[in-house]
Amino acid sequence: MDVLSYARDALATGPLCDACLGRPVADRSFGLTNAERGRGLRTALALAADDPFEPPEDCWVCEGVCAGFDEWADRIVDALEPYEFDTYQVGTRVPPLLEENASLLRDDAGLEDDAGEPLKREVNREVGKRVGARVDAEVGFERPDVQLLVDLDADSVDVQVNSAFVYGRYRKLERDIPQTEWPCNDCNATGTVDGEPCDGCDGTGYRYDESVEELTAPVVADAMDGREAVFHGAGREDVDALMLGTGRPFVIEVKEPRTRAVDVESLQTEINDFADGNVEVEGLKAVTHEMVERVKELDASKTYRMDVEFAASVDPVALQDALADLDGATIEQRTPNRVAHRRGDIVRTRDVYDIDGKLDDDTHATIEIHGEGGLYVKELVSGDEGRTEPSLTGLLGVDAEVTALDVLTVEGEDEPFIEDRFLRDAETE
Ligand SMILES: [Zn+2]
Ligand SMILES: [Zn+2]
Repeated sequence: MDVLSYARDALATGPLCDACLGRPVADRSFGLTNAERGRGLRTALALAADDPFEPPEDCWVCEGVCAGFDEWADRIVDALEPYEFDTYQVGTRVPPLLEENASLLRDDAGLEDDAGEPLKREVNREVGKRVGARVDAEVGFERPDVQLLVDLDADSVDVQVNSAFVYGRYRKLERDIPQTEWPCNDCNATGTVDGEPCDGCDGTGYRYDESVEELTAPVVADAMDGREAVFHGAGREDVDALMLGTGRPFVIEVKEPRTRAVDVESLQTEINDFADGNVEVEGLKAVTHEMVERVKELDASKTYRMDVEFAASVDPVALQDALADLDGATIEQRTPNRVAHRRGDIVRTRDVYDIDGKLDDDTHATIEIHGEGGLYVKELVSGDEGRTEPSLTGLLGVDAEVTALDVLTVEGEDEPFIEDRFLRDAETE
C-alpha cells in the first residue's frame, strides 16, 4: 500500500485530526505516536503536491477525543488524589458511534476494517502515559492497585480501588470465640423472632459477642483507611478450641484502602492492644491478593492437644495399645454427623502422623496428635457412631469423647507457602 495515496483518500472523507489520520496505518513507521504519524503524512502530502499545509481543525472520526488526552489525564489524577497506589491501569469505554466512524474511514480509504490500531487502545495508552508522567506509580497489567475507566459517552472517570492484603498468624487464647461472625440461626441474624428479641442471641443477631475477625480486621481497615476489612483464615478451629503455638495463618483484605504503606510492627501492636489478650497476631506482612487463595487452600498438617473422657474405666496398657495402633494409621472418615448438614457425605482418608497420650485418672486422658490436614480429630476419638475407622472408641471398646481441644501448631512457622512474589515491597511510613 502506498501510504500517501491512503492519506489522500482518508483526507478526502472530511476533516481528520492527526491521530485519526495516523491510526489506520499504525502498523507502519514504528516509534511514532499516531498523531506524529498523521502529522508526517499531512506534511508529506503538502510537500508532494506543493499545496499549502493545512492544520486540522476538527475531526469527524473521534469528534475531538484525541485532542482531550491531557484533560482526561488531569481528571484521572484528580480522581486518584485521595488514594495511595503503586500501580494503575487506564481503560476506555468507546461509544459505538465512534467505532462506526473509525470503521467508515477505513472503508472509504480502502483499508481492512481492523487496519492499524483501534481507538480504544490509543486512548488507553496516550491517557495512561500522561497519567504516568504526573504520578509516582507504574502501569500494572495483572491486577493494579487502581483501575480507571474513561467513559467517553458519559464524560466521566470511574475509579476502582483494588483491595490491599495483610498476612499474619493468630493465636486464640480464649474459648468460645468463632473465627468469623456467627449469625444466629434462630432469627436469621435479625435479632428478633415474631417481633420479640431473639432468645438464641439476646437480640444481637449473632451467636457470639466477638470473633477473631472482629478483634483484628477493623484495626487493619482503620490503619489503611479502607471501607471495610474481611478475614480469610487457613481453615478454622472449633469455636470452643484454643489456637496456640505459632498460630494459624490468615489474610485480612481491606477494601478500597486510601493508604497501602503500613508499618506492620505498629499494626501488630495495635491489633494486640485492641484484642486485649483474647487473640494475638504476629508475623504480619503486606502481601498480594494471591495470598488469599494460597491461605484458604492451605491443607496444613496440625498438632492438637485433647482432653478425653471415657464412659468407663480404661486400663493404661489398653490405652497405650490403642494409641500404638493409631500411630501412623490411615483413617477412613465419613463426613462427621455434626457437619453432615452442610457438607456432602463422602469417605475421606487421612493419616495420623504421630499420637501420644496418658491417663490422668481411670476415665480421663490427655492426648496429643499430629495429623494430616483435614483429619477430624474429635471423630477419631469418638468413632462418630462407626463413621470413622479405626477410632479410639472402637479400639478400646469404651466410648471416648473429646471435652477440650487446643490447636498447638498449624504447619509450623517456616511458612513454605509464602513465595517472594506474594510479598509487596517492604513499606513503612
Ligand atoms: Zn480524530
Ligand atoms: Zn437470634
